[in-house]
Amino acid sequence: NASAKPPPEPSPLRKAKFFQANMRILVTGGAGFIGSHLVDRLMQNEKNEVIVVDNYFTGSKDNLKQWFGHPRFELIRHDVTEPLLVEVDQIYHLACPASPIFYKYNPVKTIKTNVIGTLNMLGLAKRVGARILLTSTSEVYGDPLIHPQDESYWGNVNPIGVRSCYDEGKRVAETLMFDYHRQHGIEIRIARIFNTYGPRMNIDDGRVVSNFIAQAIRDEPLTVQLPGTQTRSFCYVSDMVDGLIRLMEGDNTGPINIGNPGEFTMLELAESVKELINPDVQIITVENTPDDPRQRKPDITKAKSLLGWEPTIKLSEGIPLMEDDFRSRLGISRKK
Ligand code: NAD
Ligand code: UDP
Ligand code: UDP
Repeated sequence: NASAKPPPEPSPLRKAKFFQANMRILVTGGAGFIGSHLVDRLMQNEKNEVIVVDNYFTGSKDNLKQWFGHPRFELIRHDVTEPLLVEVDQIYHLACPASPIFYKYNPVKTIKTNVIGTLNMLGLAKRVGARILLTSTSEVYGDPLIHPQDESYWGNVNPIGVRSCYDEGKRVAETLMFDYHRQHGIEIRIARIFNTYGPRMNIDDGRVVSNFIAQAIRDEPLTVQLPGTQTRSFCYVSDMVDGLIRLMEGDNTGPINIGNPGEFTMLELAESVKELINPDVQIITVENTPDDPRQRKPDITKAKSLLGWEPTIKLSEGIPLMEDDFRSRLGISRKK
């Protein structure tokens, strides 16, 4: 950080509210899965005012209904690819579809969201002197050639593949963050999030944990994409939110990996879901999609030493918590 310019003056809001010390926090993508859990946690602190902006592409107002009408909460329908004028002290910038089926649906829009959206939020951060946190992704490591992945690894990303709109989009977003930091002294934080799961994921979101849990509840076969030996590491959403807040509040720009180092093959995940939710369900193999990373596991040495953070919820504890949420939304109770 030594080469960065000094940060701009704190926002007029923070100065004006000096004696009150309230924090006004913007959460982009706050109607989504991780964002809505983050908002819940931020709202628990009476000193926080939370503004959510979201275009509801993959998120839903329903995820935030518990805060409607609350005097410290505000929800704005807005697309981050358009300029935004608000006065805030901190920005958690999450807006971006995260599930492959959604980010591939309109890849050009995914790139605009990552590039223009992040540029706009950095322009906003610069104008008001806010600290900004980007939720980047383990996808910046692509199909990694080192294992587990630590933050010094530059990645192995296909620049022209069907996942590139997301992977390369996030890589440019990280570049923009560091260039605004070095050129304009903006206070930045970058989290590289590894696969996260928990209540409120879209039921038909297409990601593996939500697919398997919904399939097990509906008595449908669990669809393991070939070869089934590919690995992922799954972090429960409350652990993730805790890590993001620690990163925002701490002194390190990052990038810092935030994820659970417990590593599972997709076949092992299917077996766990079967055992925990529906021992009668079938497991089948189906075709995979291009460029699927073969292995992924975070090295969280930095998160542990710099943030004092490590995950507390094991996959075998998290799956039942998510099952309860999916059952109530699907209206299917446990068989007795
Ligand atoms: P999500 O799809 O549930 O949430 C994303 C939110 O952003 C949604 O509410 C969506 O409507 C909103 N959004 C999308 N494009 C927008 C735009 N142009 N303008 C305004 N709002 C927009 O996904 P999530 O799992 O909560 O992911 C949140 C963030 O974390 C994303 O930036 C994602 O890249 C990152 N991340 C997630 C995971 C994971 O496993 N969930 C892993 C790595 C990184
Ligand atoms: N921006 C924004 N809100 C603000 C300030 C800027 O959305 O409060 C946008 C602005 O429209 C621009 C981007 O952020 O497209 C980058 O702004 P910056 O001031 O860094 O660059 P410039 O406007 O000089 O190109
Ligand atoms: N996957 C699977 N069955 C599914 C959905 C996904 O086996 O129904 C696999 C997919 O091939 C990948 C892994 O699960 O290897 C994680 O995929 P997901 O889309 O959840 O996240 P990402 O690829 O972004 O890590």
